[in-house]
Amino acid sequence: MSPQAILHDSKTALAAILSRIEAARKAALAPAPKTSLIAVSKTHGEAEIAPVLDAGQRIFGENRVQEAKAKWPALRERYAGIELHLIGPLQTNKAREAVELFDAIHSVDRPKLAEALKLECERAGRTPLLFIQVNTGEEPQKAGVTPGQAAAFVEYCRETLRLPIGGLMCIPPAGEPPAPHFALLAKIAAENGLSFLSMGMSADFETAIRFGATHVRVGSAIFGERG
Ligand SMILES: *Cc1c(COP(=O)(O)O)cnc(C)c1O
Repeated sequence: MSPQAILHDSKTALAAILSRIEAARKAALAPAPKTSLIAVSKTHGEAEIAPVLDAGQRIFGENRVQEAKAKWPALRERYAGIELHLIGPLQTNKAREAVELFDAIHSVDRPKLAEALKLECERAGRTPLLFIQVNTGEEPQKAGVTPGQAAAFVEYCRETLRLPIGGLMCIPPAGEPPAPHFALLAKIAAENGLSFLSMGMSADFETAIRFGATHVRVGSAIFGERG
């Protein structure tokens, strides 16, 4: 563990984030009925995650299937009621493990992956809450369907595959004001009758709440900077 990790007080940081979420919801004209905090624990070990669990947090986000598989089964034995979200890209050949391990998957972004998830959900008899990732900035290096493809992909998942889609997720381009991206994601969700909006990270979750975020994904503001 790094010296910063030892000095960092994640319990106090968690309480501060929860109160900022409440304040942002109060200030918003039309907040979502509920905004869930996903504590993004990627790169952090059990020793750093346990204090956050002890403080009462139960919803966590990881961006890699293998890392989550190594960390969370043991934590789930110690703590009841954990809800685990996959927020990073998913390879088709890891769809089975992802469906077994995660309660939500935020990165559905292509037909092949949706098809694999459909098969694995049927096999496992459980369907995680699924989000389609939208590349709102149309950045070539970033995952997600383009805003223009979103409606057709939602329809493909729902109608052709009969795969229930809960909502949309985005990661705005670095160094750009995030508000237009959150507004665009909210608009696409409303047009497609989707209830959940996964948007907002440590630097911009309050803005995301203003645009109706139902799930904010906050890592470094809770756990400290990643090493
Ligand atoms: C790492 C990550 C986060 C958390 O980012 P912070 O800036 O540390 O809050 C949120 N969403 C995704 C998709 C991530 O990969």
